[in-house]
Amino acid sequence: MKTLAQIAQQLQGYDPQALSVPDVNRFLAQLVEPVGDVEELALLQAQGRVLARDVVSPFSVPPHDNSAMDGFAFDGAQLAAGEPLALQVVGTALAGKAWHGQVGPGRCVKIMTGAIMPAGLDTVVPQEFVQTSGTDAIRIPAGLLAPGDNRRFKGEDLMQGQPAVRRGECLTPARCGLVASLGIATVPVSRKLRVAYFSTGDEILSLGEPPREGAVYDSNRYTVHGLLSRLGCEVIDLGVVRDEPALLEAAFRQASRQADAIITSGGVSVGEADYTKAMMNKLGDVAFWKIAMRPGRPMAVGRIAADRGGAEALGRSAGPPQPRPAPSRGSEPHEVGSVGATGRSAGPPQARPTPSGGSEPHEVGSEGAILFGLPGNPVAVMVTFLAFVRPALLHMMGSTDAPPPLLRACSVDALRKKPGRTEYQRGTVATGPDGTLQVRITGNQGSGVLSSMAQANGLIVLHHSQGNVAPGDLVDVMMFEGMI
Ligand code: AMP
Ligand code: MG
Repeated sequence: MKTLAQIAQQLQGYDPQALSVPDVNRFLAQLVEPVGDVEELALLQAQGRVLARDVVSPFSVPPHDNSAMDGFAFDGAQLAAGEPLALQVVGTALAGKAWHGQVGPGRCVKIMTGAIMPAGLDTVVPQEFVQTSGTDAIRIPAGLLAPGDNRRFKGEDLMQGQPAVRRGECLTPARCGLVASLGIATVPVSRKLRVAYFSTGDEILSLGEPPREGAVYDSNRYTVHGLLSRLGCEVIDLGVVRDEPALLEAAFRQASRQADAIITSGGVSVGEADYTKAMMNKLGDVAFWKIAMRPGRPMAVGRIAADRGGAEALGRSAGPPQPRPAPSRGSEPHEVGSVGATGRSAGPPQARPTPSGGSEPHEVGSEGAILFGLPGNPVAVMVTFLAFVRPALLHMMGSTDAPPPLLRACSVDALRKKPGRTEYQRGTVATGPDGTLQVRITGNQGSGVLSSMAQANGLIVLHHSQGNVAPGDLVDVMMFEGMI
């Protein structure tokens, strides 16, 4: 387990005041590790989970050469160029009921799709190609077939002993089907990641509370909950936490006891007059960043110590004494925008989390929980989640699947873009009249405007060094399908 200072040292050009989006992801890739705990699940329960060990094929699939068509199996060596072939039918091979006789020259076997190819036969003529006379004579017209046609080979899907699905691959419907085709009923998967979430801010109302002047309903809790559920995480919902040190401390401590990762929203902006950042500093090893992106500039990242008395558990004991949280509203916690105290030791070896018995609440071990302190603005929350939190959580889940590729679409709109930061614009991708993909922005792009996010089916990604986009220019789009 590396401290933030150790990671920062290794990252070339690390500047917490102006981190690029790729640098944030490079940092997070060093910070997070797969949780490692494995559970064995029945295949139907394992859909969508990350496989923890290779599933090796115990036999070849298909286990025998078999027919790809309903028709007649025969020895293809008898086909002569430009000549029809007359054959006598001597038996029937059904799927699940093989034909075991010998089939000599001039003879064939009626065969069904999936039936084992009788010994010595390598070619199948589909039923609809043949002319029949009587019940047991067929004629194959000239020029329709080549030797070997319509035969599936033993092992053409999977060879015995080969990995069918690999560790780190997500169990999609196709992969579950493949595992089932091997007769395997249970699979080892990474246990579900536990992610605690709470919203911060005195102006945030929970649903059910009466409206109040200047207050807004908590939408972040609902977007984050949905994003986490889609990812297959177990969500620990800690609600809205008021801007009071005791309440924030209790929430962080509970979260660090129960969760592998903690997501908060709000309270990390520069000049934010609240206790959130101070409490993060008190309880963990946390960096406060300004990221060269829009929306979503401020973000806090780090580890909140397991609940056993503060940051000492993260190996900060060798560092200088830590300032206490700001005693009153309006003062800033220490070292905002830096990695915090230097000279932290790597700390004592940390125990791995132990597999839980499955009952709530979970105790996840002594390494503490990864913290993602997201900004408060509703769109900034979703964008930072998609850009940073999602890939980091997938890594913690043990996933090795490549991220879905960005789509290239033609921008209908002119887009203003400053080089030197990554910008995400909400858009709708559709097929244009000429059949090519077009993307159109969905209106007001303010970082608090959730309606334009709700209408979008993807985010236009305007990369760090990119400038203005003219109508007709190609742009990259991160599609929401499956994520939002
Ligand atoms: P902050 O990052 O705390 O300065 O918040 C930025 C903006 O996001 C403010 O207008 C907040 O009212 C708003 N905001 C913060 N948290 C939430 C939330 N959970 N749901 C909706 N809006 C929020
Ligand atoms: Mg706030």
